[in-house]
Amino acid sequence: MSSQKVISRDLLDKPKDCYCQSGKAAEDCCLPILEGRIQASSPEALMRSRYTAFCLENIEYLQQTTDPAKQESFDLELNKSWASKAEFTGLEILASEEMADTGRVEFKASFDFDGESRTHHEDSVFKRIGGRWYFHSGEVFEEDS
Ligand SMILES: [Zn+2]
Repeated sequence: MSSQKVISRDLLDKPKDCYCQSGKAAEDCCLPILEGRIQASSPEALMRSRYTAFCLENIEYLQQTTDPAKQESFDLELNKSWASKAEFTGLEILASEEMADTGRVEFKASFDFDGESRTHHEDSVFKRIGGRWYFHSGEVFEEDS
Protein backbone atom coordinates (compact mmCIF):
# COMPACT_ATOMS: atom_id res chain seq x y z
CA MET A 1 0.00 0.00 0.00
CA SER A 2 1.38 3.36 -0.93
CA SER A 3 -0.01 5.02 2.21
CA GLN A 4 2.53 3.12 4.28
CA LYS A 5 5.35 4.81 2.39
CA VAL A 6 4.00 8.24 3.25
CA ILE A 7 3.74 7.34 6.94
CA SER A 8 7.32 6.10 7.17
CA ARG A 9 8.54 9.23 5.39
CA ASP A 10 6.72 11.39 7.90
CA LEU A 11 8.15 9.43 10.79
CA LEU A 12 11.65 10.00 9.54
CA ASP A 13 10.80 13.64 8.98
CA LYS A 14 12.46 13.34 5.63
CA PRO A 15 11.46 15.91 3.03
CA LYS A 16 9.62 14.50 0.06
CA ASP A 17 11.93 13.71 -2.83
CA CYS A 18 11.28 15.83 -5.85
CA TYR A 19 9.28 14.30 -8.69
CA CYS A 20 12.10 15.05 -11.13
CA GLN A 21 14.36 12.58 -9.27
CA SER A 22 17.11 15.12 -8.67
CA GLY A 23 17.69 13.57 -5.27
CA LYS A 24 16.72 16.87 -3.66
CA ALA A 25 13.59 17.61 -1.68
CA ALA A 26 10.77 19.05 -3.80
CA GLU A 27 10.89 22.21 -1.69
CA ASP A 28 14.57 22.68 -2.61
CA CYS A 29 14.00 21.81 -6.26
CA CYS A 30 10.95 22.21 -8.48
CA LEU A 31 8.19 23.29 -6.09
CA PRO A 32 9.25 26.92 -5.52
CA ILE A 33 9.72 27.30 -9.29
CA LEU A 34 6.30 25.82 -10.03
CA GLU A 35 4.69 28.08 -7.46
CA GLY A 36 6.41 31.14 -8.92
CA ARG A 37 8.38 31.89 -5.76
CA ILE A 38 11.68 31.71 -7.63
CA GLN A 39 12.70 31.64 -11.29
CA ALA A 40 14.29 28.64 -12.93
CA SER A 41 18.00 29.47 -12.84
CA SER A 42 18.95 27.33 -15.84
CA PRO A 43 17.39 25.50 -18.78
CA GLU A 44 17.81 22.24 -16.87
CA ALA A 45 16.02 23.64 -13.81
CA LEU A 46 13.17 24.76 -16.06
CA MET A 47 13.05 21.39 -17.80
CA ARG A 48 12.91 19.59 -14.45
CA SER A 49 10.13 21.86 -13.26
CA ARG A 50 8.18 21.16 -16.44
CA TYR A 51 8.54 17.42 -15.88
CA THR A 52 7.29 17.89 -12.32
CA ALA A 53 4.40 19.97 -13.68
CA PHE A 54 3.43 17.02 -15.88
CA CYS A 55 3.53 14.73 -12.83
CA LEU A 56 1.23 17.12 -10.99
CA GLU A 57 -0.91 17.73 -14.09
CA ASN A 58 -0.21 21.45 -13.82
CA ILE A 59 -0.62 22.05 -17.54
CA GLU A 60 -1.09 25.80 -17.13
CA TYR A 61 2.51 25.93 -15.94
CA LEU A 62 3.62 24.16 -19.11
CA GLN A 63 1.83 26.74 -21.18
CA GLN A 64 3.25 29.63 -19.15
CA THR A 65 6.80 28.35 -19.57
CA THR A 66 6.46 27.90 -23.32
CA ASP A 67 7.99 30.63 -25.52
CA PRO A 68 5.46 33.52 -25.36
CA ALA A 69 5.36 33.57 -29.16
CA LYS A 70 4.09 29.98 -29.09
CA GLN A 71 1.76 30.07 -26.10
CA GLU A 72 -1.30 30.79 -28.18
CA SER A 73 -0.90 27.60 -30.20
CA PHE A 74 -0.33 25.52 -27.06
CA ASP A 75 -3.27 23.13 -26.79
CA LEU A 76 -4.15 23.24 -23.09
CA GLU A 77 -7.05 20.78 -23.28
CA LEU A 78 -5.17 18.25 -25.38
CA ASN A 79 -2.18 18.33 -23.03
CA LYS A 80 -4.47 18.07 -20.00
CA SER A 81 -6.25 15.04 -21.30
CA TRP A 82 -2.94 13.41 -22.27
CA ALA A 83 -1.35 14.13 -18.86
CA SER A 84 -4.36 12.76 -17.02
CA LYS A 85 -3.85 9.39 -18.74
CA ALA A 86 -0.09 9.22 -18.36
CA GLU A 87 1.71 8.31 -15.20
CA PHE A 88 5.26 9.57 -15.12
CA THR A 89 7.79 7.19 -13.67
CA GLY A 90 11.19 8.74 -14.19
CA LEU A 91 13.38 11.44 -15.65
CA GLU A 92 16.91 11.08 -16.93
CA ILE A 93 18.89 14.13 -18.06
CA LEU A 94 21.33 13.02 -20.76
CA ALA A 95 22.88 16.36 -21.64
CA SER A 96 22.39 19.94 -20.69
CA GLU A 97 24.08 23.11 -21.85
CA GLU A 98 23.60 26.83 -21.64
CA MET A 99 25.10 29.47 -23.91
CA ALA A 100 24.09 33.08 -23.38
CA ASP A 101 20.32 33.15 -23.85
CA THR A 102 19.94 29.73 -25.42
CA GLY A 103 19.98 26.38 -23.70
CA ARG A 104 19.60 22.77 -24.64
CA VAL A 105 18.53 19.79 -22.56
CA GLU A 106 18.39 16.25 -23.81
CA PHE A 107 16.30 14.00 -21.60
CA LYS A 108 14.36 10.79 -21.35
CA ALA A 109 11.08 10.82 -19.50
CA SER A 110 9.48 7.48 -18.67
CA PHE A 111 5.78 7.05 -18.25
CA ASP A 112 3.02 4.49 -18.28
CA PHE A 113 0.26 5.04 -20.77
CA ASP A 114 -2.58 2.63 -21.47
CA GLY A 115 -0.83 0.01 -19.36
CA GLU A 116 2.35 0.28 -21.42
CA SER A 117 5.73 1.58 -20.28
CA ARG A 118 7.02 4.19 -22.67
CA THR A 119 9.92 6.57 -22.95
CA HIS A 120 9.87 10.06 -24.36
CA HIS A 121 13.35 11.02 -25.59
CA GLU A 122 13.69 14.65 -26.53
CA ASP A 123 16.30 17.29 -27.23
CA SER A 124 14.72 20.55 -26.12
CA VAL A 125 15.79 24.09 -26.92
CA PHE A 126 15.22 26.79 -24.32
CA LYS A 127 15.43 30.57 -24.74
CA ARG A 128 15.95 33.25 -22.14
CA ILE A 129 13.57 36.11 -22.81
CA GLY A 130 13.40 39.09 -20.48
CA GLY A 131 15.50 37.25 -17.92
CA ARG A 132 13.26 34.15 -17.81
CA TRP A 133 13.85 30.76 -19.35
CA TYR A 134 11.19 29.37 -21.68
CA PHE A 135 10.78 26.14 -23.57
CA HIS A 136 11.22 26.97 -27.25
CA SER A 137 11.11 23.77 -29.26
CA GLY A 138 11.95 20.11 -29.07
CA GLU A 139 13.19 17.37 -31.29
CA VAL A 140 11.72 14.00 -30.37
CA PHE A 141 13.72 10.83 -30.98
CA GLU A 142 12.09 7.58 -31.95
CA GLU A 143 12.54 4.85 -29.36
CA ASP A 144 13.01 1.32 -30.54
CA SER A 145 11.56 -0.35 -27.44
ZN1 LIG B 1 12.79 18.75 -9.08
